[in-house]
Order: sequence, then C-alpha cells, then structure tokens
Amino acid sequence: MGRILADEQLAGCLKIAPQSVMVSSEVLTTETRRRIEQAWGPRVFNNYATTEASGLAIECDQHRGMHVMEDLVLVENVDQDNQPVPPGVFGDRLLVTPLYKRVQPLIRYVIEDRVRFSSEPCPCGRPFRLIDAIEGRAQEVLAFPKADGGAVGVHPLLFHTLLDLLPVSGWQVVQEADGLHILLARVHDALDDRQIESQVRQALAAQEAVVPPIQVQRVEAIPQTLAGKAPLVKSNLARASH
Ligand SMILES: [Zn+2]
Repeated sequence: MGRILADEQLAGCLKIAPQSVMVSSEVLTTETRRRIEQAWGPRVFNNYATTEASGLAIECDQHRGMHVMEDLVLVENVDQDNQPVPPGVFGDRLLVTPLYKRVQPLIRYVIEDRVRFSSEPCPCGRPFRLIDAIEGRAQEVLAFPKADGGAVGVHPLLFHTLLDLLPVSGWQVVQEADGLHILLARVHDALDDRQIESQVRQALAAQEAVVPPIQVQRVEAIPQTLAGKAPLVKSNLARASH
C-alpha cells in the first residue's frame, strides 16, 4: 500500500503531505523505501509486528534499525537449539513473550524470523536494543528439488533483487504445483515478460534448483489473504518440514 500511494503521489494523482509514514505487515524492501522517500522525504518508520504478539520493534528518527519495545515484550534471539546468539549474528528464530497479554498469555512464542541485533547502541540514546537486519521468514524460503537429489532452499532476497526494481506497483511470487507464478500489479512501463522469466530461471538454475515452469501474470492488484496480507513470496505447496 505504501508503494502504491507513493507511486500515485509521484505520478501527480495523489497530493498529500504526511509528517511521517509508518509501514508494517510486509517486508519493507529497499526500493519501496526509496519510492516513499522520493514522494514524501525521509520520514519512513518501519514497524516490525506480528499478528500473535503485536508490535515488536519500530524505527526511531535515526533510522539505524528498529528498537525492540522492551518495556512491552521480551524478545530472545536464538539459534536452532534455542540457545541465545550474540549481537551482530543472525539467529534462527525469535522467542517472544509479551508482558501485557493476560487473557491469552504467550510465553517464548516462536517466530520463525532470522533477525540480527545491532552490537552498537543507537545514537538517539534510547536504551532499547536495536534490530538492524531481518532476513525474512522461514515461510518465505521456497524449497526446490535439486537435479542430483535433495532440495535447495531459495531465499526471498533472490526475488527481491530481480523483481523489486520493476516499474510495477506490486509483485508476488507464488509457488504452485504447476510451477512458479510471478504476479505483477499495475505495470506502468514497457516490460518484457519473457526476459523476467528468463532472469528468474537463470537465478534459480545458478542455485542448482530444478527450475519449474515460470509464468508471468499481470494483475490489477496483488490478492490479499483473509488476514489482509500480501506477502512478496509464498508457497501453496504442502510443507514437509512443519
Ligand atoms: Zn534510536
């Protein structure tokens, strides 16, 4: 939504002057941040939240990462054995304990995000720890078979890199039984679908994946889930590991 609104502002169809822009729910990609800043200036505040545990962290005006709301929630960054990882290192998951949920308490609720805490304090002076990088959710890593057996996990960053700069108001990669569907919403410039297909094919092949059929589909809007979400990468295949 932030990207759509920024595009409309840049096209002269929307004329608003927000004092700040807070984004949440989906991954804020570099290109979406750039477009929002181009439209309204450097006033973007990324908010890291989950449905189950509500807000976890938010940017301050230094924009060096997101401060964990440590007066509201305990966030533990741990490895695969649930052992704590130090600042500066990516964990495998978060264990989250909100301090204010009394009707449905959550204790060390597992959030499958790979997150890194900053080893530097924030210059703003707030004591709350900074999350300086989120590698995304385990659900967004797509599994493909490999030619020599086994499977390869393809990180969502591969698709961010290839698709995020396209002149579209939104995109989504969906893994289905019949192949990979690349949805492009509101294409507002010349675009060669076959070139996109071939770039994705090459990138997947470079990771030794057996490349499935790839289909680019142009849509008016990226479909939302029942919860109103529009993830950038998702799989509709049954997951073996969960
Ligand atoms: Zn700060």
